[in-house]
Amino acid sequence: MEATDDGCCRSAATEVGRGWLNEAVRRVEADANRSADTHLHVFPLPPAWGIDLYLKDESVHPTGSLKHRLARSLFLYALCNGWISEGSTITEASSGSTAVSEAYFARLLGLPFVAVMPATTSPEKIALIEFHGGRCHLVEDASTMYDEARRLAAESGGHYLDQFTYAERATDWRGNNNIAESIFEQLSAERHPIPAWVVVGAGTGGTSATIGRYVRYQRHDTRVCVVDPENSAFFEGWVTGDPSYETGIGSRIEGIGRPRVEASFLPSVVDAMVSVPDAASIAAMRWTSRTTGRSVGGSTGTSMWGALRLVAQMHAAGETGSVVTLLCDGGERYAHTYDSDSWLAEHDLDIAPYTATLEKFYDTGEWVEPTR
Ligand SMILES: *Cc1c(COP(=O)(O)O)cnc(C)c1O
Repeated sequence: MEATDDGCCRSAATEVGRGWLNEAVRRVEADANRSADTHLHVFPLPPAWGIDLYLKDESVHPTGSLKHRLARSLFLYALCNGWISEGSTITEASSGSTAVSEAYFARLLGLPFVAVMPATTSPEKIALIEFHGGRCHLVEDASTMYDEARRLAAESGGHYLDQFTYAERATDWRGNNNIAESIFEQLSAERHPIPAWVVVGAGTGGTSATIGRYVRYQRHDTRVCVVDPENSAFFEGWVTGDPSYETGIGSRIEGIGRPRVEASFLPSVVDAMVSVPDAASIAAMRWTSRTTGRSVGGSTGTSMWGALRLVAQMHAAGETGSVVTLLCDGGERYAHTYDSDSWLAEHDLDIAPYTATLEKFYDTGEWVEPTR
């Protein structure tokens, strides 16, 4: 750029792409406009307990998971920041549902999309990303996927969406039909419209950040509980207050749990955390699918374990109220893993004691935590 003699400088770059940008934003907005809000299902608890449990069903988005919201927000944020223009190659580091949803939005905008992921990613996942028009770039060492995604974007003059940094700030936390606003509106005619707890898992941490900020902004008396699977850094990082805490090991519960405390995780809006054994997550996933007749994924099992534990504590203390958690994705994606008994055996997971806890709780209201 060059300034003229009168101390004025006008960007050619912002001028060129404005027409394309307008059309891109319109397409993303039009996609949202065509979509319906997601259901808030009632989970059947004994009515006499005076406690209501709800599941916000994020599996019904066009790309099948909670990540549809995230992908929409990341694209809009990048478009409106002037970070994406016509022909930009979009990259992301993701081994899962985020890449699926982002591939969908990239295609909507006519942009090439590359998902950088570990070589161990399942063929089904790769097929799903390719189905939505994305390309998969596999790396041997999972810890290199962030730098690789950044490098691929830089080389082509494209944009690295970087979910683990931007998830918390790309979403409008004050409202604009974010997940928190939607939940509170859907609860407005219930007997306990302000939930005592909202229970969520953390992948990027973006969802817990949005809900935590929203309840503070609205001055609601709601607490946010984050459930965390085995090997994830979020729990210890939160307990010790150390944002640099790392386990270096990936989580087995898809979508949640990270080897490091991601930048997008906002510990100061989290009121409680529960570390959930993977066997408990899978027991709760299967039990929830049976009890509701709705097939749910592994991270929903983790959330349900945490939510039911809170319900049990409220019940034991003679409290009434409501608890909300998320149905993050459906169980169809996990037929060969969490739903397979041979997979459980291979991974040395015994879900029987956890299933027994859930069944006893549902029958009697008494929660007996299995010894770990
Ligand atoms: C991403 C994800 C979550 C957690 O959401 P974040 O906002 O990224 O913390 C939970 N469950 C599933 C299945 C997910 O894909």
